[in-house]
Amino acid sequence: MTPFLRQRIAVVGLGKAGLPAARRLHAWGADVTCWDDGEAARAEASAQGLRVANPAEGFEFDALLLSPGIPHLLPRVHPAAAASRAAGKPILADVEFLFRAVRAAGRKARFVGITGTNGKSTTTALMAHLLARAGIPVEVGGNLGPAALDMQILGDDGVYVLEMSSYMLERIADLRFNAAAMLNLSPDHLDRHGDMAGYLAAKARIFATQTRDDVAVLGQDDAPTAGLRAGLAARWVPISGTTPQPGGIWAEGSLLRDSQGVIADLATCPTLPGTHNAQNAAAAIAMALALGLDRNSLAEGLRSYPGLPHRQELVGRIGAVRFVNDSKATNADSAARALASYERILWIAGGMGKEGGIAPLAEYFPRIAEAFLIGRDGPEFAATLAASGVKHRLCGTLAEALPLAARAASGGAADVVLLSPAAASWDQFTGFDARGDAFRALVRALPGVEF
Ligand code: ADP
Repeated sequence: MTPFLRQRIAVVGLGKAGLPAARRLHAWGADVTCWDDGEAARAEASAQGLRVANPAEGFEFDALLLSPGIPHLLPRVHPAAAASRAAGKPILADVEFLFRAVRAAGRKARFVGITGTNGKSTTTALMAHLLARAGIPVEVGGNLGPAALDMQILGDDGVYVLEMSSYMLERIADLRFNAAAMLNLSPDHLDRHGDMAGYLAAKARIFATQTRDDVAVLGQDDAPTAGLRAGLAARWVPISGTTPQPGGIWAEGSLLRDSQGVIADLATCPTLPGTHNAQNAAAAIAMALALGLDRNSLAEGLRSYPGLPHRQELVGRIGAVRFVNDSKATNADSAARALASYERILWIAGGMGKEGGIAPLAEYFPRIAEAFLIGRDGPEFAATLAASGVKHRLCGTLAEALPLAARAASGGAADVVLLSPAAASWDQFTGFDARGDAFRALVRALPGVEF
């Protein structure tokens, strides 16, 4: 297959997605030149037989594949993006090349895209799970990984489920989603998008190439997302984690339903706790129905969804006590979702806090039986808890905190030990995943633990 024969493609940013993209495009017949500002990445590309040159130093190309992490506008235009714009060439994301390759191969495989500020990865993984349970060939990834150009070319019956960040959405051209969902919007990444209007405009691009044969799923739980319906070409389906949506999918308590009746009881779905997951599940159900999945099979799919690591991941139990890894909660907003999901909590938190620390979480403090604080900002979090009379201990590290929390749990203080740090991990770990992995390993080493 040579869908890009002799097309001159510059690939800039040779990370997890960029390097496989360069290799695949080369294999597909493109005339690929790659670049990375880091010398080690350039050396790796050379070692793999790829041509390396800097697009900002003047060679001609037909399109620029720019890594989502590299800005083409704000806060500062990358020189490769500037060169591309000066030459009037498109700046594209890897997903765009995947779509073109699939269509060039004559395949009718369908595309599903999911975006929003929170819940993208969960909804993407859940959607892929529902499709796979229905026996449909699926490739899942995008922002979540694996990268688009690490995926197989599927047949006509296949479905690609792609997590789309706002950075990727700014760089699509022809990619058309048969079903697309925008979950929610809250302030994020404003350094790149300028302001909320710019961020919303980037997100809204997920619907831009749709036609009336397609389905647009729109979260109704915040005004900016709900307002997007005005400009849609596709048939739109409203969804909500909390409020009835005639013609759409919503949760009434734990019951997920549409106008015809109940589809599933989320109380029977252990990996989807909380109203935020009700929103994610509603979106996945809406898209699954749009793609023709059997309504009666969906409850089983939700129940058997294994969940993603580090997002309220149940990593072990001792008797009635659950140990939950929510290391992905790197800010107060996402920790709030976890704290809202349990009645009585032994809470492990701390690390590198964000502006405002844990003060925004005050409404959940009455649920905290005791907090075990770690990392750089443990003392700051302690001061906030002390001011509200919440019992807490400064532990320093996760390895210190976990046995203390486990002992408090065995004494009956609470039946959930929750790592939901409300802070970045960089002071003590290489990332939220390493922090979550460490927690899982510590839990699984506890005497009497089942997993
Ligand atoms: P994303 O991929 O958009 O970062 P994830 O599915 O990885 O989202 O979830 C990250 C964290 O965000 C979760 O641990 C949870 O606390 C919170 N979250 C998940 N879904 C939602 C939602 N629909 N609305 C608000 N917060 C959510």
